[in-house]
Amino acid sequence: MSDYILVLDEGTTSTRAMLFASDGVLVASHQEPLTQHYPQSGWVEHDPAEIWEKTLRCAENVVPKAGGAAMIACIGITNQRETVVAWDRTTGEPLANAIVWQDRRTEPFCAALREAGHEAGVQERTGLLLDPYFSGTKMRWLLDNVPPVKAAADAGTLAFGTVESWLVFKLTGGAAHITDASNASRTLLMGLEDAQFNEELCELLGVPLAALPGVVDTCGPLAMTDPSLLGRAIPITGLAGDQQAATVGQACLAPGQTKATYGTGAFVLTCQGSRIPRSTNRLLGTVLTQCDGVRTYAIEGSVFVAGSLVQWLRDSLGIVEVASQTEALARSIPDSGGVVIVPALAGLGAPHWNAEARGVIAGLSFASGKAELARAALEAMAHQTHDLAAAFTADGAPWKTLRIDGGMAANDWMAQDLADVLGVTVERPGFVETTALGAAMLAAAGAGLYPDLGSAAQAMRGRLSKFEPAMGDDVRDARLAAWRKALAAA
Ligand code: ADP
Repeated sequence: MSDYILVLDEGTTSTRAMLFASDGVLVASHQEPLTQHYPQSGWVEHDPAEIWEKTLRCAENVVPKAGGAAMIACIGITNQRETVVAWDRTTGEPLANAIVWQDRRTEPFCAALREAGHEAGVQERTGLLLDPYFSGTKMRWLLDNVPPVKAAADAGTLAFGTVESWLVFKLTGGAAHITDASNASRTLLMGLEDAQFNEELCELLGVPLAALPGVVDTCGPLAMTDPSLLGRAIPITGLAGDQQAATVGQACLAPGQTKATYGTGAFVLTCQGSRIPRSTNRLLGTVLTQCDGVRTYAIEGSVFVAGSLVQWLRDSLGIVEVASQTEALARSIPDSGGVVIVPALAGLGAPHWNAEARGVIAGLSFASGKAELARAALEAMAHQTHDLAAAFTADGAPWKTLRIDGGMAANDWMAQDLADVLGVTVERPGFVETTALGAAMLAAAGAGLYPDLGSAAQAMRGRLSKFEPAMGDDVRDARLAAWRKALAAA
């Protein structure tokens, strides 16, 4: 029976192919690193040809481990979001390097749009803010600055797309130029109401609608691969941006269910069901899933510094040799002795949005040592997450549970502290590759291996660890009061 699911997980620093059994168990995986190009300060590029070649190579590597292409029921793709590729639809060749999501080169254009008073209207329609992070202004930059892109636009052969769109085009031998609604919702060009690219938004950003892909579901029969590539025509049945895929992978499919990924920074998404998010707290609204044309939405917020604070304790202060030692240090003392860290080392993200803010260590005394600093660093994760939770609640999206993943989520002490300070149950899956698992769930549901996404998520989600809130109100209140005082100093 052909019931394996092939997931192509195209990340910022590497490309992977992963083979899942239909019960969500990972069977095989192959990974290749991706070259990062930094042509100028603030610019980050990838080579689209390299992305495609490595993706294909990773897929070719794992397909035999399923017993051949005949054993693969479907393909799911998840990708680094907002990164833009421009190619010629007749030749299938890239016309420029991809501009990566981290790239800041379009800030002057964004600033001009903000100054002209467009942000409120754009946020109302797209759920996004006018920031270089998103795809639309990157497309405009390519048109303005790369002559072959402009020439292809004039000749009517230009194709723009985010990375999943580029990969589907190549995987289908150029037959399909599509993007899924979750990736399209990161472009500044798509209205959240109808999940279609919008003529007025295209005009505002100066991006030709004709160059954009068709917007399709995140799961369903979306396209078929070119049979000459992997041995047979395999249906592509799941497509989603990485954070949306991780949210699905954590089975956050009902309103209020929330996932937080604690890696270098922290990304939080709360499912909103069919309700279109409207933030008054500078959070983002985004499409989570679209199956049979029916959409769910999510509210999204991120903090810039999470695991990187632990890295700083390790590399700059030498307080620990490896990140996981913070756990034993935090446990070795009953409290941080009044030490509070505000991790504004790179400004503050949601909900504060203060680029000029800088880090603070408050409450130092002669009794403060390594353990107090390590504990204060971990406590800062709960404090930052608490402020995000307050913003989500103010936007009408209170959290029911918090499902955590990412490298830092391995820290049991931090997981318990999150439950204590937030006052919600924190859940952590045993299988931490939630992004790839989410893409597998979408593909499995889209291929009809399960009746719907909810049943796929139920069946494929592995074992969980749970952390229940146990902290007294007085302790929590005192912690948060000290945090607010330190935050004011940042
Ligand atoms: P990314 O995907 O952003 O590269 P990861 O999800 O791999 O990040 O997480 C790595 C981060 O988590 C590092 O910054 C590291 O300092 C931190 N980290 C890893 N393990 C632990 C731990 N047990 N306790 C605290 N922090 C940890």
